[in-house]
Amino acid sequence: MKPFTYIVPKTLAEAADAAKQADTMLKAAGIDVVDRLKERLLTPAQVVNLLPLRDELQGITVDANGELRIGALVTLTQLERHAALQAPALQALRESAAMTATPQVRHRATVAGNLLQFTRCWYVRSEAHRCLHGGTGPTCLAMTGDNRYHAVMGWSDCVRVHPSNLAPPLLALGAEFTTSLDGKTRRRKLAELFPAEPRALLPEHTLAAGEIVTALHVPAPAAGARSAYSESREKQSFDWATTACAVRLVLDGDTIEAADLVLGAVAPVPLPRPRAAKLLVGQKASPTLFQKVGAAAFADAMPLGHNKYKLTVGPAIVRDALERATR
Ligand SMILES: Cc1cc2nc3c(=O)[nH]c(=O)nc-3n(C[C@H](O)[C@H](O)[C@H](O)COP(=O)(O)OP(=O)(O)OC[C@H]3O[C@@H](n4cnc5c(N)ncnc54)[C@H](O)[C@@H]3O)c2cc1C
Repeated sequence: MKPFTYIVPKTLAEAADAAKQADTMLKAAGIDVVDRLKERLLTPAQVVNLLPLRDELQGITVDANGELRIGALVTLTQLERHAALQAPALQALRESAAMTATPQVRHRATVAGNLLQFTRCWYVRSEAHRCLHGGTGPTCLAMTGDNRYHAVMGWSDCVRVHPSNLAPPLLALGAEFTTSLDGKTRRRKLAELFPAEPRALLPEHTLAAGEIVTALHVPAPAAGARSAYSESREKQSFDWATTACAVRLVLDGDTIEAADLVLGAVAPVPLPRPRAAKLLVGQKASPTLFQKVGAAAFADAMPLGHNKYKLTVGPAIVRDALERATR
């Protein structure tokens, strides 16, 4: 590991000042950051530890309008166990946190760190390989190499997938995020955290250098709102999803009045599927309908040599999320 200066700020302002310096890496729990430092994929001049900023970046609160505020440093265990997350409308978020990694990881991993973790593509994460996304090679090595965990849609010159469990449900629930940069607070839709057209040479998120995520905001659920999250993976624990789906439905009796559907682990960014979601609106829940929606969610897939299984497993995961949200 290359030596670096370790900054332990006392306030958000102090962290923001340090984060502005060139060649600086922000660290929350460090699960991904420390891995990448040890693998020599990151060689920053300084690392700013955000964990001391408990007052500014912690806590889960519900305001008078029913909007949920989740501090950037909230851990996945805190999220999973919080009373507000037990409502059927927020089930997708609770389930996605509960399914992540292992109990040990969930006790440490933070919400912002989960959303901003680097792709798990084994080529870009290996010091031995030179690839386009890593900025060291001419092409995406996964495109023709071992791509069993890689993208089946939404890719152009790089077939990495976005690994975050929390991103699909937060997008489906219409979340926004707040950041701090140069003393200014900005609030944007969560979709804007990810590039609209992901490319190999673009960063995986749209934050400016030194911009610190301070909180996530989930709007108050509509009456009759339900949600669910399902994922496939190779191991029961200690593993990332191979396909994932979060759905948010608003039910009036047994009729679906509104729907959102977001896929994870199949594209370089978490991927909303509005056309598939639209098929649900005005309909009554049924296995035939869910079959149609699952197929539509994967209709324009472009699988690679080793990941065609995602086109079978993925629609089944969509059906599972829909069945559980309407049960
Ligand atoms: C064995 C194992 C299995 C796993 N399985 C899963 C899984 O199934 N699903 C899943 O989603 N994840 C999984 N993970 C990944 C894990 O959830 C993430 O590594 C973790 O959530 C990262 O959170 P962190 O707080 O440690 O972030 P860090 O490692 O500290 O940071 C990650 C990134 O976020 C940035 N960052 C962090 N906080 C902020 C902030 N407030 N503002 C701006 N930038 C910030 C950092 O600069 C860095 O780029 C797994 C990890 C392990 C080790």
